[in-house]
Amino acid sequence: MDDAFTSDTHQDIGRVLVSSTAIARRVVELAQQVGDDYAHADGRLTVVPVMTGSLLFAADFVRALPQRRLRIQLTTVSSYGGKNTASRGSTLAGALPKHLEGHHVLILDDILDSGGTLRLLRSEFESRGAASVRACVLLRKKIPSAMSTPCEYCGFDIDDEFVVGYGLDYDDLYRNLPFVGTLKPEARA
Ligand code: 5GP
Ligand code: MG
Repeated sequence: MDDAFTSDTHQDIGRVLVSSTAIARRVVELAQQVGDDYAHADGRLTVVPVMTGSLLFAADFVRALPQRRLRIQLTTVSSYGGKNTASRGSTLAGALPKHLEGHHVLILDDILDSGGTLRLLRSEFESRGAASVRACVLLRKKIPSAMSTPCEYCGFDIDDEFVVGYGLDYDDLYRNLPFVGTLKPEARA
């Protein structure tokens, strides 16, 4: 039974880039670092997962941070849609978190690519009176736009390929894979 969960593979996946074991280990490390860094902000930390891509990351991350009293407020930003695999610019899709004044905001996102999502959210939260705004991403592409975007916490730097799994989708599929990998060309019909 266990094997079904530890075999990091799927018929539509070309290559596994980050295994489920590596993700689990790194998410705990990130959460521990954040827990230490925000000791001063206990009770005034607001974690903002960017939906839908950071759904799995956020769920694992906050469970690895039980020692901090924190709030979770979701936000939704759309940059890719359907079968697009290139960013079309980031737009807010839905309400922004409220009552951020004096709160330390930690944005959680699945992947840093063009940097549009983080730039947009950072400026929105700063203008709403947050005491501080930082970002934590699971993945960052090794491309200039991503590497030059301010981001305080990063799980893995990966090559510039379109990836799915662990929250990341292609046409809303594959978010449920426990690992991150590339799609076979034939799966991108
Ligand atoms: P950015 O705003 O930095 O260009 O991109 C951030 C968003 O674009 C991510 O939160 C994610 O939704 C989407 N994205 C960027 N690269 C990839 C990728 O390789 N695969 C998938 N599935 N989504 C991506
Ligand atoms: Mg996203």
